[in-house]
Amino acid sequence: MTKNEAQQKLIGLLRKDACEATTLVKHYADENEKLRHMLFMAHGSEEHYLYGDDGERTCNTCWIDFNADSAEVIERKIFAYNMRKIAKLQSEGKWPPEFLRQANVKITGDTLT
Ligand SMILES: [Zn+2]
Repeated sequence: MTKNEAQQKLIGLLRKDACEATTLVKHYADENEKLRHMLFMAHGSEEHYLYGDDGERTCNTCWIDFNADSAEVIERKIFAYNMRKIAKLQSEGKWPPEFLRQANVKITGDTLT
């Protein structure tokens, strides 16, 4: 094999790898888009008011932007919302709920504070 033939073969392999990488990137981008949409749709509830006009996908309760926020930021916002919710319930004397108090008594013999 001449030097030119070896270079042409290498260029062909690199083009094939680049094409496969592009296909993979497109595949995972499509998967990401679909999973974000499914997460957005599953997130809505009586507590979480969704806004989905004009391609937007946000929660007006915990301020998640399902289009722009990373998975880590989404997780952090959900955790922060749940912590605020528990703090509010504790301040109202509603946390832990009775079923958790009963379960804790059965498991440990203690009552939750
Ligand atoms: Zn929310």
